[in-house]
Amino acid sequence: MSTRKEMIVCPRCGGHGTITNPNIYPIGGGFTQSEWNEMDSEFQDMYMDGAYDVRCPDCKGRNVIEVDVRTTCVVCGEDIPADKQSRHEIYCSNACADKDYNDCYDIQRAEREMGC
Ligand SMILES: [Zn+2]
Ligand SMILES: [Zn+2]
Repeated sequence: MSTRKEMIVCPRCGGHGTITNPNIYPIGGGFTQSEWNEMDSEFQDMYMDGAYDVRCPDCKGRNVIEVDVRTTCVVCGEDIPADKQSRHEIYCSNACADKDYNDCYDIQRAEREMGC
């Protein structure tokens, strides 16, 4: 199997290199407008200045992360066409994807028959 490295914009911080401290701003959470209005202005200023930001744990502040992109098919070992290569693609074609799926199914069935 072979892979190549590819740099992608860090999905966690969106390429900022920092995220707002999860203790203050939970992932997917945040302030409602009325909660925000209740904060004292000192907190608001610091928040807006990024005082509560922490370095992004995924990219370590580099804004990008390195991912492995597979270049060969897991089933037949042929090269995956360049325009199909992505970090999610592991087959060169739908036919190989189907074959792999059926092979897994066969293995599961064989295991069941053996009493596993
Ligand atoms: Zn990041
Ligand atoms: Zn293949």
